[in-house]
Amino acid sequence: MNQDVFKTTETMDSTRNDNHMTQGIHVVAKPIGPACNLDCAYCFYLEKQALFGNCRNFRMPEEVLAAFIRSYVEAQPTPVVEFVWQGGEPTLLGLDFFRRIVELQGPFTKAKTITNSLQTNGILLDDAWCRFLKQHNFMVGISLDGPREIHDRYRCDRQGNGSFDAVLRGLKFLQKHGVEFNVMACVARETARHPLEVYRFFKKEGIEFIQFTPIIERLPATVELNLGLSLAVPADLDREEQNTAVTSWTVLPEEYGDFLIAIYEEWVRNDVGMTFVMNFEWALNAWIGNPSPVCIHARQCGCSLVIEHNGDVFACDHLVYPKYKLGNILFNDLTGMVAVSLRTGFGVSKESALPRWCRECEVLAACQGGCPKHRFAQSHYNEPGLHYLCASYKRFFLHIRKYLQAMTSLLEHGYPASQVMEAVKGPLVIRQQGPTAISGHGEGGAK
Ligand code: SF4
Ligand code: SF4
Repeated sequence: MNQDVFKTTETMDSTRNDNHMTQGIHVVAKPIGPACNLDCAYCFYLEKQALFGNCRNFRMPEEVLAAFIRSYVEAQPTPVVEFVWQGGEPTLLGLDFFRRIVELQGPFTKAKTITNSLQTNGILLDDAWCRFLKQHNFMVGISLDGPREIHDRYRCDRQGNGSFDAVLRGLKFLQKHGVEFNVMACVARETARHPLEVYRFFKKEGIEFIQFTPIIERLPATVELNLGLSLAVPADLDREEQNTAVTSWTVLPEEYGDFLIAIYEEWVRNDVGMTFVMNFEWALNAWIGNPSPVCIHARQCGCSLVIEHNGDVFACDHLVYPKYKLGNILFNDLTGMVAVSLRTGFGVSKESALPRWCRECEVLAACQGGCPKHRFAQSHYNEPGLHYLCASYKRFFLHIRKYLQAMTSLLEHGYPASQVMEAVKGPLVIRQQGPTAISGHGEGGAK
């Protein structure tokens, strides 16, 4: 199921620092570094070119690719090894590069099940690409923000031309060839003001799997400007004085929550079990008490690495900066690099540096304080390290609590969660006997 490919989009993490021994290490590969054929206004990755000096060829060399594939398989204690190919725009490498990936993985498929996911802007997808992706069972994440006027506001090429038509064409190729895919939709400031237009557009296009990702970037301070960067580096969780100025495209602190709530209200009435909004699936997962499959709402970070085109390995997709480099795949093994990451305390600090405001929060189990990169706000107790989107997270998780309670009850009694759509019409009554699980009376809300 497409859950795996969603791991490509939000830099999925295993949930506990000790989990890599049982759940494996996740590495997101960037075989073409920050090179891309688009110039999206909110992209935090393109400017990473500045960190690679005069390098203009970001193609991963064969020896790095081979070393990574071997090392990644060998580092996994699990029977399944999930490769995630991301960018930049990985399709710029051409189909032959991906044919070579499958060849290099070949010798390992006797001992392990190997899966591949590809995150793409979709522009170069055509019949040949999609035949290959289908043949080799790739799961594809395609970036699409909504209908034309919303998508093209931020996702343009270097000439300022919108990419909507090209992306939709790519998406149609995926559908034509039956390639498994999901849509990764970024929620920037303007997008957040059009929740139902976005959601209904996706449904109209026959899209079943959707993930929403809030866009948050801070303006640079001296340290970033000296590195040649135009966006701020991740927040220092314990620093009192944070730079809190955000870019003009950053979603506003309350509006992301309102965006999710508006879509949830429509989804919970009509689409449960038919359209899968991963943000909602994660919330139900947390409510049931399972560890989060997505790093932003996991208790700790630490086992989700990134490998750059040149073999350099970093602690996370959001931490591709010199100070977070863990080693290089040509000289260090992945297990050792995870150990280095854990020793730095980066992973546990997500939990240990939670402000009291979070520790006392009634939705902490679902939220877990959010991604540390964006914990640059001050709490109501004047502590540092609160997430910029705290207001949104709290509003969203509190709002959907009654629905999550209803779905949990249904699941506990052996009914599908989709029956919540009946429950929202009236009080939820679960009958232990008889054919009817639910009775509903008016718009009273699920209980
Ligand atoms: S909702 Fe806010 S206070 Fe609660 S855990 Fe999340 S960031 Fe912390
Ligand atoms: S810092 Fe942690 S929560 Fe944020 S993207 Fe990286 S692993 Fe995920």
